[in-house]
Amino acid sequence: MICRRGSVYLVGAGPGDPELITVRGMKLLQQADVVIHDRLIPTEVLEYCRNTTLIIDVGKYPDHHRISQDEINELLVIHARRGDIVVRLKGGDPFVFGRGTEEMETCLAANIPCHVVPGISSAIAGPSAAGIPVTSRGIARSFLVVTGQTAPHLKKHELDFAAMAQIDTVVLLMARKNLRSITHGLIEAGRDPQTPVACIERATFADQRVTYSSLYEIADQIDQLGFANPMVTVIGEVATNVNPDLVEWPVEANEHYFALEFGE
Ligand code: SAH
Repeated sequence: MICRRGSVYLVGAGPGDPELITVRGMKLLQQADVVIHDRLIPTEVLEYCRNTTLIIDVGKYPDHHRISQDEINELLVIHARRGDIVVRLKGGDPFVFGRGTEEMETCLAANIPCHVVPGISSAIAGPSAAGIPVTSRGIARSFLVVTGQTAPHLKKHELDFAAMAQIDTVVLLMARKNLRSITHGLIEAGRDPQTPVACIERATFADQRVTYSSLYEIADQIDQLGFANPMVTVIGEVATNVNPDLVEWPVEANEHYFALEFGE
């Protein structure tokens, strides 16, 4: 891996568990002069940084001054122009609803080399950590990842429910608030109200929660359980609880490492 001074690295931090960042992401954190990170990253990974690394939290917290995307873009340019190795650390994968495109375009327009280090996206890792495969032979051969939120300048409800209803597995991100209208939209578009649905809250964090229901009832169920963001929703035949042991995370990672190390 070559780290060039005056460069920006858009690095995916993975879905939550600090062990799910890539090796390349970890090495870049060790070499970074500046790390600019979001809120939904595992903060433990910042321990890879040197004491001298400047760490800037640009996370968007409710009720706090919201640092705008323009300000973030500006920070990337300012630091890279100083000759720094800048790691822009983002939750999951930088290009899955992460506004990574805008940041990359800003760097390129300013003539700053910009590299992307993919990350494990919650869109797949969320279901997976709960034992739910997004595809499964004979059950689901397509999956779709959709945002439950709409950019402010677009009309509301511009989701194409008729098209969505045709896909075997539908994964929703950022859909906590609009889950009820989305599930109703899918039922109206012909999806069976009894279609299995799972919601995974804080996937791969130590306090991960998973709940299972039907398309018809899931919105009520997560209200009752008080599920909050961040949350992934999986809709489709795959979303059944086939392995109840996987409701918690991480299950037996440490025991597994132990077994590897001692050849058991
Ligand atoms: N780039 C990120 C997604 C950013 S959008 C990725 O690839 O994962 C933010 C949304 O991602 C959240 O609203 C939530 O729907 C989902 N999300 C991110 N981390 C999550 C986690 N650990 N558990 C559940 N959902 C998560």
